[in-house]
Amino acid sequence: MRVTLLGTGDTTGTPTVGCECDTCETARERDIERTRFSVHVENDRTGESLLVDFSPDFRYQFLRESVPLPDAAIVSHIHFDHLDGLGNVFRVFDSLDVYAADETDPATGESVAETVAGDYDYLDAVTVQPTTPLESTRICGFDVTLVPVDHPPLVCYGLAIEDPETGAKLSLSGDTSYAIPQASREVLADPDLLLADAIVPAELCDAHPIGGRHEDGEGVARTFGTKHMTREGALALADDLGAEQTRLVHVAHFYPAEDAFAEPLALDGETYEL
Ligand SMILES: [Zn+2]
Ligand SMILES: [Zn+2]
Ligand SMILES: [Zn+2]
Repeated sequence: MRVTLLGTGDTTGTPTVGCECDTCETARERDIERTRFSVHVENDRTGESLLVDFSPDFRYQFLRESVPLPDAAIVSHIHFDHLDGLGNVFRVFDSLDVYAADETDPATGESVAETVAGDYDYLDAVTVQPTTPLESTRICGFDVTLVPVDHPPLVCYGLAIEDPETGAKLSLSGDTSYAIPQASREVLADPDLLLADAIVPAELCDAHPIGGRHEDGEGVARTFGTKHMTREGALALADDLGAEQTRLVHVAHFYPAEDAFAEPLALDGETYEL
């Protein structure tokens, strides 16, 4: 399994358009970036590729990394930064299966699969495959399981992607607070590589209108507001899951410049062989 981090940023990316903060300026000087979230997973046994989430930066990411176009894709949730790149399929793909959860979201009255199918019904190439969370589905030769996470007010899903032949395992937290349900944690456990949402360091919770949540024993917030993990929360999750290796993703430009490019925060273009 070959994993390429196409996009490791939050919804505005780093550098953020029009922003002159030290973090964005440092990224420009060093010519490094975090585009909107997406991960490419190649199966070297079958030659197939699976895409996780359709970043608005889809076209640029595929040109920059020179990875093969996907044979199938998964949408974790319906926020702009994970879904709106799907329009790039037009005139590029003849056909593409897009997997998304089949549970009705009380906030929208639709499942992720139904919203994707409705919003992109003009794309003849796309076939939406409604997928039941917590059940394994074979996609591109991998066993893939969507797991409910906690990203209010919308439903959102993390993922476990396992190669049934080699045992290699990639887990993704999805966009989530630290309050990932136990049944989901069991599916995500013991990955070779964990990609965990770590939007800001815990110290920035003071700047959030409702602060932080899910404090640890020392009072450090593991959730920023309600929707995302802090850096400390993501590292605690990695510890809880027994992750062999962890990269922090969905990273915002709000990290101070001295922390923003430190380990284990991911940058676009990193690759991993599992
Ligand atoms: Zn900035
Ligand atoms: Zn989101
Ligand atoms: Zn997001």
